[in-house]
Amino acid sequence: MIDNASIESLKNSIDIVDVIGNFIELRKAGANYKANCPFHGEKTPSFVVSPSKQIYHCFGCGVGGDSIKFVMELEKLSYPEAIEKLASMHNFALTYTQGSSDYSDAKRVLEQIQKWYAQNLDATPNALAYLQSRGVSRSSIERFGIGYVPQGGRVMEFLHASLLPLPKALDAGIIAQGERGEFYARLVERVTFPIFSSSGSVVGFGGRTLGNHPAKYINSPQTKLFNKSRLLYGYHLAKESIYKNRRLIVCEGYLDVVMFHQAGFNEAVATLGTALTTEHLPLLRKGDPKIILAYDGDKAGIAAALKASQMLSVAGFDGGVVLFPDGQDPADLIAQGESSSVAKLLRESKPLIPFVLEQISSHYNLHDPRDKESAFGEMKQFLGGLSQIIKESYTPIAATLLGVAPALFGASVTPTQTQERFGEQRDDIAQLSILKTLQERPTLIPTVLEVVEVGMFGRYAPLFEALLNHQHTHPHLMGLSVDESLQVMSEEELHTTLRNFLIKHYDTKLKQIVTDTTLPFSQKSFMIRKIKSDIIPRLKKGELIAIGKERR
Ligand code: ZN
Repeated sequence: MIDNASIESLKNSIDIVDVIGNFIELRKAGANYKANCPFHGEKTPSFVVSPSKQIYHCFGCGVGGDSIKFVMELEKLSYPEAIEKLASMHNFALTYTQGSSDYSDAKRVLEQIQKWYAQNLDATPNALAYLQSRGVSRSSIERFGIGYVPQGGRVMEFLHASLLPLPKALDAGIIAQGERGEFYARLVERVTFPIFSSSGSVVGFGGRTLGNHPAKYINSPQTKLFNKSRLLYGYHLAKESIYKNRRLIVCEGYLDVVMFHQAGFNEAVATLGTALTTEHLPLLRKGDPKIILAYDGDKAGIAAALKASQMLSVAGFDGGVVLFPDGQDPADLIAQGESSSVAKLLRESKPLIPFVLEQISSHYNLHDPRDKESAFGEMKQFLGGLSQIIKESYTPIAATLLGVAPALFGASVTPTQTQERFGEQRDDIAQLSILKTLQERPTLIPTVLEVVEVGMFGRYAPLFEALLNHQHTHPHLMGLSVDESLQVMSEEELHTTLRNFLIKHYDTKLKQIVTDTTLPFSQKSFMIRKIKSDIIPRLKKGELIAIGKERR
């Protein structure tokens, strides 16, 4: 079991914006952060993260909670699993009351196997020769922990000899299980590139074959520790330079990353055998760098660069594209001692948006009016995804490329969508503001309860009750606490709001009494007189009156 004290100190050391920002892209909105909710499909963000409250809440589907709850729900993990995941993401060492856990066991397997892979390299001349032929230096081998995995039998022997339990090695993605239940090594006879989490712990491996295996590169499978679609190879080594130089270079292969670093471009990273997708955006956004896409100049490389540029520009990133000429990858150029020409290519990268526009126009025969129309449609759609100012700045380039008037692209402004709160139940700001104030300043609760009753709050009565019962995880209470449009009032403001609320309340009540046929006449006339000539005038004069005064 995980020691409670260590759970507490983990909770204290993590920040919810950081935690959630690792999974989805958050945008600053006032004191809070906003995103499209990962728990229900939506196009306008109603998912709010509050750094001051350390909670999240979705105004659309009502989910909410703290960092741990988020990880549990999103990754479908149990409470202890979520704690361990958070600890591993933040390089935090949990203490256990007895025994250990699946996570720390899998981590231990990965760390030991990595050491062993690295040791094997020196005993494998053809692996060393391969790296040498690609120009990889000794210090790069050490910096990136490059290793070698021999035949499968040797892997199994190593696991047995090191007393590493096979089910844990299975969890770590090192071995797989066949149909008859037998275990076998996943990576064999390959040069290994350990893949680290952004905080620097080994989570998986990429392996390059030295034989003529049809798959040149393969990666560890997806495990609880290893999520390929969110990680970037080399990020833990590049992080510091990315923050310092406000630049991030995305390349296509592991070897490209190694060679970029070897040539002093320490901001280089690569995706793990996948295209760059929106899942990478949270990591890319850290440190607010310019993103340089350094891809091969072949057909596949250009297509990948186009897709990535479109996604990055729509997501509001600044950056550019470098395509390496003549089918040469950056690793080759650097290995040939052409570091200065690489530096020049990086400096002269084509900015993202013009790159996209030029690529679109190059796909069409612009002498053919119908083709031109298609190109126009594609450009208009792309520009339409950008912010208004960016769109306007690049429209002349698009118009020039097509040879049309810029006015053709129009200036269609999409109306800003106003956010819905509490569904449609949001017509009385006063009641919600009172509740919000009580939530933030609970010492005022007794004063308020003297003059109002929970029932007076109509549809918000359950919310009021939840507040009085300290139900902090009540979804609407959480919504209330992160709703920035509601002000926490001073005591004086609270008094005024309460008086206005009461005046409105007694006005409505008066109308009800008049039409009420169940009340005896004498009581009816007493209540009408009391409200009309006593309560309302006193409220209007500035007095707060305790409830129940209109009754006898
Ligand atoms: Zn939602």
